[in-house]
Amino acid sequence: MSELEQEISKTEKDSVVVEKTKKYKKPVSKKKVCPFCTDKTNIIDYKDGNKLKRFITENGKILPRRQTGVCAKHQRELANAIKRARIMAILPFKGE
Ligand SMILES: [Zn+2]
Repeated sequence: MSELEQEISKTEKDSVVVEKTKKYKKPVSKKKVCPFCTDKTNIIDYKDGNKLKRFITENGKILPRRQTGVCAKHQRELANAIKRARIMAILPFKGE
């Protein structure tokens, strides 16, 4: 057996061990796509309270990107829109 072959069999063994010791399996989750990207909207309308409500919690907090699946660019826009909407009294600052 050549050195290279030995190396290969060694790595194969290692990978088997890794697979056996791996206890936690990642849940298969559907990949979220940014709803604003699919709509091709660049500017998020702060006056559209019903749409913005989907991105805030019951307490009026802005939901994190990892929960909503909004992309970084639109999350920034969305945060600004929500803040503006709060000032315009479309969205609450704090939950009732
Ligand atoms: Zn987006």
